[in-house]
Amino acid sequence: MSDQVHIVTGGSRGIGASVCRKLAALGHTVVVNYASNSAAAEALVADISQAGGRAQAVQADVGNEADILALFRAADDLGDLAGLVNNAGVVDLAQRVDEMSLERLSRMFSINVIGSFLCAREAVKRMSTRHGGKGGAIVNLGSAASKLGSPAQYVDYAASKGAIDTMTVGLALEVADEGVRVNAVRPGIIDTEIHASGGAPDRVAQLQSRLPMKRAGTADEVAEAIVWLLSDQSSYTTGAILDVSGGRAILP
Ligand code: NAP
Repeated sequence: MSDQVHIVTGGSRGIGASVCRKLAALGHTVVVNYASNSAAAEALVADISQAGGRAQAVQADVGNEADILALFRAADDLGDLAGLVNNAGVVDLAQRVDEMSLERLSRMFSINVIGSFLCAREAVKRMSTRHGGKGGAIVNLGSAASKLGSPAQYVDYAASKGAIDTMTVGLALEVADEGVRVNAVRPGIIDTEIHASGGAPDRVAQLQSRLPMKRAGTADEVAEAIVWLLSDQSSYTTGAILDVSGGRAILP
């Protein structure tokens, strides 16, 4: 069993949960972060433990700095941090920009963008050789929406993921010679509960015939790419933004 610790924000369901299972199966210790659904997080931790892995559920809203600091302190108790997956992200109900409230925009950007920045800050402070760390990897979750813009649906979400693309490139260069690699995965339509949380539970069924592969992706298919970007197999890959979208929005 490795004493290398990985934090997966929003690790209890969807893509994050698949990443947690795969990391644990590789022998890593996984911090399964979640916002409010403790039952889902504890069920995942029980599954991982039963399979012989090491995982701990930690509640923390990545839209709240104090929660993020507590999340990283909990990870410190488990060993050296080797990886962060900035996976927690939210969508919202379909709206035009001329209908969006400040409250909606603040929630979107504080969870999807500021939360990812603050988690990256804490991870770099622990992993960068500049701070006495041993190196590590960060993987951010972008979205094909950053290229599509998501008009009349959630331009705010698309723009928040545009910020993630830019943060990935800038931070990757900032820490390139400090032993920390920073990459992003940009999923297309993936079959998870996020669509229901945005008021469109049938989104996958409605869209799949229009997708290049005529099907949505699975959480496992995205997790494979994330786990590769965390691993030493991708040791010369940094600042990359990998489309895992079945061909959706692959053109700039
Ligand atoms: P999901 O199924 O809705 O799962 C969301 C996870 O994030 C849950 O574990 C949830 O915890 C957690 N979470 C939500 N808000 C949080 C907060 N404020 N703080 C901490 N954790 C929070 O999502 P998903 O589809 O797997 O998406 C994962 C990432 O991929 C997101 O960044 C999303 O934008 C991106 N993405 C998804 C798709 C897609 O089609 N699914 C496409 C492109 C990009 P609780 O269980 O406690 O709520």
